[in-house]
Amino acid sequence: MTNRDIDIVSLYPKDMNIYGDSGNVLTVSRRLELYGYDPHIHAYNQNDPWPEHVDLILGGGGQDTGQKKITADFFRRAELLRGLAGDGVPMLVICGLYQLFGDFFETVDGARLEGIGIIPSFTKGRDVRMIGNLVEQSDEFGQIVGYENHSGQTFLREGVQPLGHVAGEGMGNNGEDHTEGARVHNVIGTYMHGSLLPKNPKIADFLITTAAERRYGKFEPVQTDDQKAALEELDRTAEQARSVAIG
Ligand code: GLN
Repeated sequence: MTNRDIDIVSLYPKDMNIYGDSGNVLTVSRRLELYGYDPHIHAYNQNDPWPEHVDLILGGGGQDTGQKKITADFFRRAELLRGLAGDGVPMLVICGLYQLFGDFFETVDGARLEGIGIIPSFTKGRDVRMIGNLVEQSDEFGQIVGYENHSGQTFLREGVQPLGHVAGEGMGNNGEDHTEGARVHNVIGTYMHGSLLPKNPKIADFLITTAAERRYGKFEPVQTDDQKAALEELDRTAEQARSVAIG
């Protein structure tokens, strides 16, 4: 243990990790190293013990079957997760877990999966999937670029701030109101696969700085010149990947 440790929980990587969402965990971990922190990744799957310390939580998307599989365990952890979200722990949840952070997900075959209600929203599956590149504009993070593939249409309850508004390609939360994702406390929910964070380093840095500030009172990079150069290289690669997606 050092005073540069940051504990990252990867939520249900066995069942909830499609379209490369594990890239988000790798990106946060790599950027933390390049800022001179010591990241520790705790994979949390069903029936695992909950890690002793949590600074940041990342969760991916999944098929309806994967979502059904985790429901019981997810409910055991619901109170804990709600408490952590209320305390300001930064979290990023993509697609399948974004839906289950809401109130409920009614799948296209009529099953109703209860959510844990961190994000005031609900989701209903429809038989036409929403698939393709997704580009949105966010006040906080500027242009966000990713890829979506979901049957669920998510509707935010009144007053809930979306992550952004579809500005270009894509359907977003529901293909109807142009909203995409949600922002509650320091929780970000979004349909953006891609993976999201390698292409959108501003969001990765938001999660990292929030985690470090909560744990140590401030975010304080301690970097060698090589680490600075490697971080700049990552940012250049992100720019390239973004321009490919935007076309
Ligand atoms: N199974 C959900 C849906 O189809 C989530 C899909 C995903 O995570 N990509 O809406």
